[in-house]
Amino acid sequence: MSDLNGQPADKKSANKFLLACILDYQMRYQIVWENAKRFVEDDLGDPEHLWETITSVPRSEWESEASWRKHSLHRFPDGHNRVWRIGSRIVSDYQGDARNVWDGQCPDVVVKRLERVGAGPQISRVTVGGLIDTGQITGESSLKADLHTTKVLGRVFTGEKVSPDHAHQIAESVLPGDTWQLDFPLFQLGLNVCKTRDPRCGECYLRDECRYAVAR
Ligand code: SF4
Repeated sequence: MSDLNGQPADKKSANKFLLACILDYQMRYQIVWENAKRFVEDDLGDPEHLWETITSVPRSEWESEASWRKHSLHRFPDGHNRVWRIGSRIVSDYQGDARNVWDGQCPDVVVKRLERVGAGPQISRVTVGGLIDTGQITGESSLKADLHTTKVLGRVFTGEKVSPDHAHQIAESVLPGDTWQLDFPLFQLGLNVCKTRDPRCGECYLRDECRYAVAR
């Protein structure tokens, strides 16, 4: 979902990546990347100083309904508004360069730093997972307990719905310390096969192990 490709990121790519991660909040991941690219490259002209450019707009103006509609960055106003709030912390704490959040740091430190700038625990973990996948940092991380991953873990291991915290516990029991490796396969399964209303158990490679499918 990004321009990061295993090489050390330049400042523009790193900031665009972080923007897309911040938008990954109740939105499909393909759309957040498209929205981040369009906004940065088309609306803003791909500026060298992305966060300074965003926060040069007064906060009250950024958080107006007109700004939310104009940029079409996020489906919810709060998803749009938090871009400014997090951006101002990236400017004040990390010189407006997302690489300063993660360069040379271990995953746990990066998660804490992202939480401190306001990204939230789930998005912070996903961002760190993306940084590991693209070779920006090394180490282990944990999955994002979203609708799809939580749904699949709950159905397979308990036969019913579980909370995000319970989903994390289950994932830890499967792959201790590095549950991020489960994130993409579980997300894809939940999105495409393990449908919320009508799971297609007959097509699922987990059907023989799944408590929900066995009980049907
Ligand atoms: S077997 Fe059915 S309920 Fe279980 S994970 Fe697969 S699709 Fe979901």
